[in-house]
Amino acid sequence: MDNKTEKKPAIRYYRTRAALFDLISKMKFWPSRTGILHGIRSIEIFGDQARITTHCNREFIVNNSRKSRAARALRNKCTSSSCRECRIPEWKLAKFSSTRFSRHFGSTLSEEAGK
Ligand SMILES: [Zn+2]
Repeated sequence: MDNKTEKKPAIRYYRTRAALFDLISKMKFWPSRTGILHGIRSIEIFGDQARITTHCNREFIVNNSRKSRAARALRNKCTSSSCRECRIPEWKLAKFSSTRFSRHFGSTLSEEAGK
């Protein structure tokens, strides 16, 4: 029987220029400075800044810059591990690793949100 249970998530593309807040609102991941991937519980946006609360109850105040360390870390996936306290499920991590960034195509996310 040809029963394929191993289902790979579809590769999705986002634009390199997608704004950081759009990106993290969609992906629900926050890469810490030490390279650990946290799951985001809530994001409160105040103009150009946002307060991110992770599942492990850490708070980060971030600026909406696509050139920031966090935006780069998400694009390049330079995270070494995921936070145990956040308990990010495997399928979410698989989805994250199947996300690609492109300069020329893919969603900018802001268009998707209808802005
Ligand atoms: Zn965490």
